[in-house]
Amino acid sequence: MSQLKRNELEQAVDGSANERVAPDEIIPQPENPFHGETRTRDELFRSAGIELDEALTEANRRLNLISIGGPLAGTVAAILLLPVLAPTPGTLIVFGLFLFVNALGAGVGLHRYFTHRSFEAPPAVVCALGVLGTWAMQGPIARWVADHRRHHRFSDSRFDPHSPYWNDDARIEGRVRGWAHAHLLWMIVGRRTSEQRYAKDILANPMTSFFTRHYWSVAASGLAAPAIVGLIIGGADEALLCFLWAGCARVSVLHQLTWSVNSFGHMFGSKAAGATDEARDNRILAILMIGEGLHSYHHLHPNAAVNRPISLDIGGLVILALEKINVVKNVTRYER
Ligand SMILES: [Zn+2]
Ligand SMILES: [Zn+2]
Repeated sequence: MSQLKRNELEQAVDGSANERVAPDEIIPQPENPFHGETRTRDELFRSAGIELDEALTEANRRLNLISIGGPLAGTVAAILLLPVLAPTPGTLIVFGLFLFVNALGAGVGLHRYFTHRSFEAPPAVVCALGVLGTWAMQGPIARWVADHRRHHRFSDSRFDPHSPYWNDDARIEGRVRGWAHAHLLWMIVGRRTSEQRYAKDILANPMTSFFTRHYWSVAASGLAAPAIVGLIIGGADEALLCFLWAGCARVSVLHQLTWSVNSFGHMFGSKAAGATDEARDNRILAILMIGEGLHSYHHLHPNAAVNRPISLDIGGLVILALEKINVVKNVTRYER
Protein backbone atom coordinates (compact mmCIF):
# COMPACT_ATOMS: atom_id res chain seq x y z
CA MET A 1 0.00 0.00 0.00
CA SER A 2 1.32 3.42 -0.83
CA GLN A 3 2.41 5.78 1.92
CA LEU A 4 -0.33 8.20 0.86
CA LYS A 5 -3.04 5.57 1.35
CA ARG A 6 -1.64 4.63 4.74
CA ASN A 7 -1.78 8.27 5.81
CA GLU A 8 -5.37 8.51 4.58
CA LEU A 9 -6.22 5.43 6.61
CA GLU A 10 -4.59 6.79 9.75
CA GLN A 11 -6.61 9.98 9.25
CA ALA A 12 -9.77 7.93 8.85
CA VAL A 13 -9.09 6.06 12.06
CA ASP A 14 -8.00 8.97 14.16
CA GLY A 15 -10.12 11.79 12.82
CA SER A 16 -8.74 15.25 12.43
CA ALA A 17 -5.44 16.07 14.03
CA ASN A 18 -6.83 18.53 16.57
CA GLU A 19 -9.53 16.08 17.66
CA ARG A 20 -6.90 13.50 18.41
CA VAL A 21 -6.23 12.62 22.01
CA ALA A 22 -3.29 10.42 22.84
CA PRO A 23 -4.51 7.22 24.55
CA ASP A 24 -2.28 7.73 27.60
CA GLU A 25 -3.92 11.12 28.14
CA ILE A 26 -7.26 9.49 28.71
CA ILE A 27 -6.22 6.14 30.10
CA PRO A 28 -5.79 6.79 33.81
CA GLN A 29 -3.58 5.12 36.38
CA PRO A 30 -4.89 1.63 37.19
CA GLU A 31 -5.13 2.23 40.94
CA ASN A 32 -7.39 5.25 40.48
CA PRO A 33 -9.42 5.40 37.24
CA PHE A 34 -10.07 9.12 37.55
CA HIS A 35 -6.65 10.12 38.82
CA GLY A 36 -5.79 13.57 37.58
CA GLU A 37 -8.74 13.62 35.18
CA THR A 38 -10.38 17.01 34.85
CA ARG A 39 -12.66 16.45 31.88
CA THR A 40 -16.30 15.47 32.25
CA ARG A 41 -17.48 12.00 31.33
CA ASP A 42 -19.14 13.34 28.14
CA GLU A 43 -15.94 15.12 27.12
CA LEU A 44 -13.97 11.93 27.65
CA PHE A 45 -16.45 9.88 25.63
CA ARG A 46 -16.38 12.42 22.82
CA SER A 47 -12.59 12.44 22.77
CA ALA A 48 -12.60 8.63 22.49
CA GLY A 49 -15.04 8.70 19.54
CA ILE A 50 -18.02 7.30 21.45
CA GLU A 51 -21.49 8.49 20.40
CA LEU A 52 -23.30 10.52 23.05
CA ASP A 53 -26.59 10.52 21.12
CA GLU A 54 -28.86 8.10 23.02
CA ALA A 55 -31.22 7.65 20.05
CA LEU A 56 -28.33 6.45 17.85
CA THR A 57 -27.12 4.05 20.51
CA GLU A 58 -30.68 2.77 21.02
CA ALA A 59 -31.11 2.18 17.26
CA ASN A 60 -27.79 0.33 17.30
CA ARG A 61 -29.01 -1.97 20.09
CA ARG A 62 -32.19 -2.74 18.14
CA LEU A 63 -30.17 -3.55 15.02
CA ASN A 64 -27.94 -5.89 17.06
CA LEU A 65 -30.88 -7.63 18.71
CA ILE A 66 -32.58 -8.31 15.37
CA SER A 67 -29.29 -9.37 13.70
CA ILE A 68 -28.69 -11.85 16.53
CA GLY A 69 -32.28 -12.85 17.36
CA GLY A 70 -33.55 -13.39 13.79
CA PRO A 71 -31.04 -16.09 12.78
CA LEU A 72 -31.19 -17.57 16.31
CA ALA A 73 -34.98 -18.03 15.98
CA GLY A 74 -34.38 -19.87 12.69
CA THR A 75 -31.71 -22.02 14.37
CA VAL A 76 -34.10 -22.97 17.19
CA ALA A 77 -36.78 -23.80 14.59
CA ALA A 78 -34.27 -25.98 12.71
CA ILE A 79 -33.52 -27.92 15.91
CA LEU A 80 -37.21 -28.27 16.85
CA LEU A 81 -38.00 -29.56 13.35
CA LEU A 82 -35.27 -32.24 13.53
CA PRO A 83 -37.69 -35.14 14.24
CA VAL A 84 -39.73 -34.38 11.10
CA LEU A 85 -37.23 -32.64 8.83
CA ALA A 86 -33.62 -33.69 9.36
CA PRO A 87 -30.81 -32.16 7.29
CA THR A 88 -29.74 -34.25 4.29
CA PRO A 89 -26.09 -34.69 3.19
CA GLY A 90 -26.84 -31.93 0.66
CA THR A 91 -27.93 -29.59 3.45
CA LEU A 92 -24.72 -30.24 5.36
CA ILE A 93 -22.54 -29.57 2.31
CA VAL A 94 -24.38 -26.31 1.56
CA PHE A 95 -24.07 -25.37 5.27
CA GLY A 96 -20.31 -26.01 5.23
CA LEU A 97 -19.72 -24.07 2.02
CA PHE A 98 -21.77 -21.07 3.13
CA LEU A 99 -20.14 -21.07 6.57
CA PHE A 100 -16.67 -21.10 5.00
CA VAL A 101 -17.26 -18.28 2.50
CA ASN A 102 -19.10 -16.29 5.16
CA ALA A 103 -16.17 -16.72 7.57
CA LEU A 104 -13.94 -15.36 4.80
CA GLY A 105 -16.38 -12.43 4.44
CA ALA A 106 -15.98 -11.62 8.14
CA GLY A 107 -12.29 -12.50 8.69
CA VAL A 108 -10.76 -11.48 5.37
CA GLY A 109 -13.40 -8.94 4.34
CA LEU A 110 -14.67 -6.98 7.34
CA HIS A 111 -11.54 -7.48 9.40
CA ARG A 112 -8.39 -7.66 7.28
CA TYR A 113 -9.55 -5.71 4.23
CA PHE A 114 -12.11 -3.10 5.31
CA THR A 115 -10.76 -2.42 8.83
CA HIS A 116 -7.02 -2.89 8.42
CA ARG A 117 -6.51 -2.50 4.63
CA SER A 118 -3.94 -5.27 4.76
CA PHE A 119 -4.03 -5.80 0.97
CA GLU A 120 -5.35 -4.15 -2.17
CA ALA A 121 -8.20 -5.65 -4.18
CA PRO A 122 -10.02 -4.87 -7.44
CA PRO A 123 -13.66 -3.66 -7.28
CA ALA A 124 -15.15 -7.11 -8.01
CA VAL A 125 -13.32 -8.59 -5.00
CA VAL A 126 -14.23 -5.61 -2.79
CA CYS A 127 -17.86 -6.11 -3.84
CA ALA A 128 -17.74 -9.83 -3.01
CA LEU A 129 -16.12 -9.12 0.37
CA GLY A 130 -18.75 -6.44 1.06
CA VAL A 131 -21.61 -8.83 0.30
CA LEU A 132 -20.10 -11.75 2.23
CA GLY A 133 -19.16 -9.48 5.15
CA THR A 134 -22.71 -8.15 5.37
CA TRP A 135 -24.06 -11.72 5.20
CA ALA A 136 -22.30 -12.29 8.57
CA MET A 137 -25.06 -10.10 10.10
CA GLN A 138 -22.66 -8.39 12.51
CA GLY A 139 -23.88 -4.91 11.67
CA PRO A 140 -23.26 -2.68 8.62
CA ILE A 141 -19.65 -2.46 7.39
CA ALA A 142 -19.06 1.09 8.67
CA ARG A 143 -20.18 0.14 12.15
CA TRP A 144 -18.10 -3.06 12.25
CA VAL A 145 -15.03 -1.17 11.10
CA ALA A 146 -15.59 1.68 13.58
CA ASP A 147 -16.03 -0.67 16.55
CA HIS A 148 -13.00 -2.72 15.60
CA ARG A 149 -10.71 0.28 15.08
CA ARG A 150 -11.79 1.59 18.48
CA HIS A 151 -11.00 -1.86 19.89
CA HIS A 152 -7.43 -1.64 18.55
CA ARG A 153 -6.96 1.90 19.66
CA PHE A 154 -7.94 1.19 23.26
CA SER A 155 -7.16 -2.54 23.48
CA ASP A 156 -8.04 -3.86 26.93
CA SER A 157 -8.11 -0.43 28.46
CA ARG A 158 -10.75 2.17 29.13
CA PHE A 159 -13.08 2.71 26.11
CA ASP A 160 -12.30 -0.59 24.38
CA PRO A 161 -15.81 -1.48 23.14
CA HIS A 162 -15.45 -5.20 23.87
CA SER A 163 -12.70 -5.94 26.33
CA PRO A 164 -13.29 -8.62 28.99
CA TYR A 165 -11.73 -6.14 31.46
CA TRP A 166 -13.46 -2.81 30.77
CA ASN A 167 -16.95 -1.54 30.06
CA ASP A 168 -16.23 1.94 28.67
CA ASP A 169 -14.84 3.70 31.74
CA ALA A 170 -15.72 1.09 34.34
CA ARG A 171 -13.46 -1.79 35.25
CA ILE A 172 -14.98 -5.29 35.07
CA GLU A 173 -13.65 -7.32 37.98
CA GLY A 174 -15.38 -10.70 37.52
CA ARG A 175 -13.92 -13.06 34.90
CA VAL A 176 -17.32 -14.47 33.94
CA ARG A 177 -18.89 -11.05 33.68
CA GLY A 178 -15.94 -9.85 31.61
CA TRP A 179 -16.25 -12.83 29.30
CA ALA A 180 -20.02 -12.24 28.86
CA HIS A 181 -19.44 -8.54 28.19
CA ALA A 182 -16.77 -9.16 25.53
CA HIS A 183 -18.70 -12.03 23.95
CA LEU A 184 -22.21 -10.61 23.73
CA LEU A 185 -23.33 -7.96 26.19
CA TRP A 186 -21.29 -5.09 24.72
CA MET A 187 -23.60 -5.17 21.69
CA ILE A 188 -26.64 -4.80 23.93
CA VAL A 189 -25.45 -2.47 26.69
CA GLY A 190 -22.51 -0.74 25.01
CA ARG A 191 -22.43 2.64 23.36
CA ARG A 192 -22.18 3.17 19.64
CA THR A 193 -18.81 4.06 18.14
CA SER A 194 -18.65 7.19 15.99
CA GLU A 195 -18.41 6.14 12.35
CA GLN A 196 -17.51 9.70 11.38
CA ARG A 197 -14.50 9.40 13.61
CA TYR A 198 -13.33 5.86 12.88
CA ALA A 199 -14.78 4.85 9.50
CA LYS A 200 -14.76 7.96 7.34
CA ASP A 201 -13.14 6.03 4.49
CA ILE A 202 -15.95 3.44 4.51
CA LEU A 203 -18.66 6.12 4.46
CA ALA A 204 -16.87 8.07 1.69
CA ASN A 205 -16.49 5.05 -0.61
CA PRO A 206 -19.60 4.61 -2.85
CA MET A 207 -19.53 0.81 -2.71
CA THR A 208 -19.01 0.38 1.03
CA SER A 209 -21.42 3.17 1.86
CA PHE A 210 -24.01 1.40 -0.35
CA PHE A 211 -23.57 -1.85 1.58
CA THR A 212 -23.70 0.08 4.85
CA ARG A 213 -26.98 1.82 3.89
CA HIS A 214 -28.58 -1.35 2.48
CA TYR A 215 -27.54 -3.60 5.35
CA TRP A 216 -30.88 -5.38 5.81
CA SER A 217 -31.53 -6.21 2.17
CA VAL A 218 -27.98 -7.51 1.62
CA ALA A 219 -28.16 -9.50 4.87
CA ALA A 220 -31.54 -10.96 3.83
CA SER A 221 -30.03 -12.07 0.52
CA GLY A 222 -27.54 -14.08 2.59
CA LEU A 223 -30.44 -16.03 4.12
CA ALA A 224 -32.26 -16.40 0.79
CA ALA A 225 -29.22 -17.59 -1.22
CA PRO A 226 -28.92 -21.01 0.51
CA ALA A 227 -32.68 -21.50 0.13
CA ILE A 228 -32.35 -20.96 -3.62
CA VAL A 229 -29.46 -23.43 -3.77
CA GLY A 230 -31.60 -25.91 -1.79
CA LEU A 231 -34.51 -25.46 -4.17
CA ILE A 232 -32.26 -26.21 -7.14
CA ILE A 233 -30.63 -29.29 -5.64
CA GLY A 234 -33.62 -30.85 -3.86
CA GLY A 235 -36.95 -29.05 -4.15
CA ALA A 236 -39.10 -27.29 -1.53
CA ASP A 237 -38.12 -29.37 1.54
CA GLU A 238 -34.41 -28.94 0.78
CA ALA A 239 -35.01 -25.19 0.26
CA LEU A 240 -36.48 -24.95 3.77
CA LEU A 241 -33.65 -27.06 5.23
CA CYS A 242 -30.99 -24.96 3.54
CA PHE A 243 -32.68 -21.72 4.68
CA LEU A 244 -32.77 -22.93 8.29
CA TRP A 245 -29.34 -24.60 8.46
CA ALA A 246 -27.14 -22.98 5.78
CA GLY A 247 -28.91 -19.61 6.27
CA CYS A 248 -29.97 -19.05 9.90
CA ALA A 249 -27.82 -21.60 11.76
CA ARG A 250 -24.79 -20.67 9.66
CA VAL A 251 -25.12 -17.01 10.76
CA SER A 252 -25.60 -18.05 14.42
CA VAL A 253 -22.53 -20.32 14.34
CA LEU A 254 -20.43 -17.59 12.74
CA HIS A 255 -21.67 -15.13 15.38
CA GLN A 256 -20.37 -17.43 18.11
CA LEU A 257 -17.01 -17.94 16.36
CA THR A 258 -16.45 -14.23 15.74
CA TRP A 259 -17.51 -13.23 19.25
CA SER A 260 -15.19 -15.91 20.67
CA VAL A 261 -12.21 -14.00 19.27
CA ASN A 262 -13.33 -10.97 21.31
CA SER A 263 -13.95 -12.97 24.50
CA PHE A 264 -11.86 -16.18 24.66
CA GLY A 265 -9.30 -14.54 22.34
CA HIS A 266 -8.56 -11.91 25.01
CA MET A 267 -8.51 -14.39 27.91
CA PHE A 268 -7.15 -17.82 26.98
CA GLY A 269 -4.02 -18.67 25.03
CA SER A 270 -0.45 -17.44 24.77
CA LYS A 271 0.79 -13.91 24.24
CA ALA A 272 3.14 -13.13 21.36
CA ALA A 273 6.57 -11.78 22.39
CA GLY A 274 6.25 -8.03 22.85
CA ALA A 275 2.48 -8.05 23.37
CA THR A 276 1.15 -4.96 25.13
CA ASP A 277 -2.46 -6.02 25.73
CA GLU A 278 -4.43 -9.12 26.70
CA ALA A 279 -5.02 -10.50 23.18
CA ARG A 280 -4.07 -14.19 22.92
CA ASP A 281 -2.93 -16.64 20.30
CA ASN A 282 -5.40 -19.47 20.68
CA ARG A 283 -4.78 -22.40 18.34
CA ILE A 284 -8.22 -23.96 18.71
CA LEU A 285 -9.85 -20.62 17.90
CA ALA A 286 -7.44 -20.17 14.99
CA ILE A 287 -8.50 -23.49 13.46
CA LEU A 288 -12.20 -22.80 14.02
CA MET A 289 -12.13 -19.22 12.73
CA ILE A 290 -9.81 -19.22 9.67
CA GLY A 291 -6.76 -17.94 11.57
CA GLU A 292 -8.50 -15.09 13.39
CA GLY A 293 -7.68 -16.82 16.68
CA LEU A 294 -4.00 -15.89 16.25
CA HIS A 295 -5.12 -12.74 17.92
CA SER A 296 -2.06 -11.71 19.95
CA TYR A 297 0.03 -11.79 16.78
CA HIS A 298 -2.71 -9.76 15.10
CA HIS A 299 -2.72 -7.11 17.84
CA LEU A 300 1.05 -6.88 17.54
CA HIS A 301 0.83 -6.52 13.73
CA PRO A 302 -2.69 -5.18 13.03
CA ASN A 303 -1.93 -4.43 9.37
CA ALA A 304 -0.62 -7.91 8.59
CA ALA A 305 -2.75 -9.83 6.09
CA VAL A 306 -1.17 -13.08 7.24
CA ASN A 307 -0.88 -14.23 10.85
CA ARG A 308 1.76 -16.56 12.30
CA PRO A 309 1.98 -19.51 12.26
CA ILE A 310 0.77 -19.37 8.66
CA SER A 311 -0.26 -23.05 8.73
CA LEU A 312 -3.06 -22.16 11.18
CA ASP A 313 -4.20 -19.11 9.22
CA ILE A 314 -6.61 -20.30 6.52
CA GLY A 315 -7.72 -16.71 5.85
CA GLY A 316 -4.11 -15.65 5.30
CA LEU A 317 -3.49 -18.62 3.01
CA VAL A 318 -6.52 -17.63 0.91
CA ILE A 319 -5.12 -14.08 0.62
CA LEU A 320 -1.70 -15.45 -0.41
CA ALA A 321 -3.35 -17.72 -3.00
CA LEU A 322 -5.27 -14.75 -4.41
CA GLU A 323 -2.00 -12.81 -4.54
CA LYS A 324 -0.31 -15.67 -6.39
CA ILE A 325 -2.92 -15.57 -9.17
CA ASN A 326 -2.72 -11.75 -9.26
CA VAL A 327 -6.22 -11.12 -7.91
CA VAL A 328 -5.04 -9.09 -4.90
CA LYS A 329 -1.78 -7.17 -4.48
CA ASN A 330 0.38 -5.27 -2.00
CA VAL A 331 -0.27 -7.87 0.67
CA THR A 332 1.19 -6.63 3.97
CA ARG A 333 3.20 -9.26 5.79
CA TYR A 334 5.95 -9.47 8.37
CA GLU A 335 8.84 -11.90 8.59
CA ARG A 336 8.07 -12.86 12.17
ZN1 LIG B 1 -8.73 -8.01 19.94
ZN1 LIG C 1 -8.04 -6.22 14.02
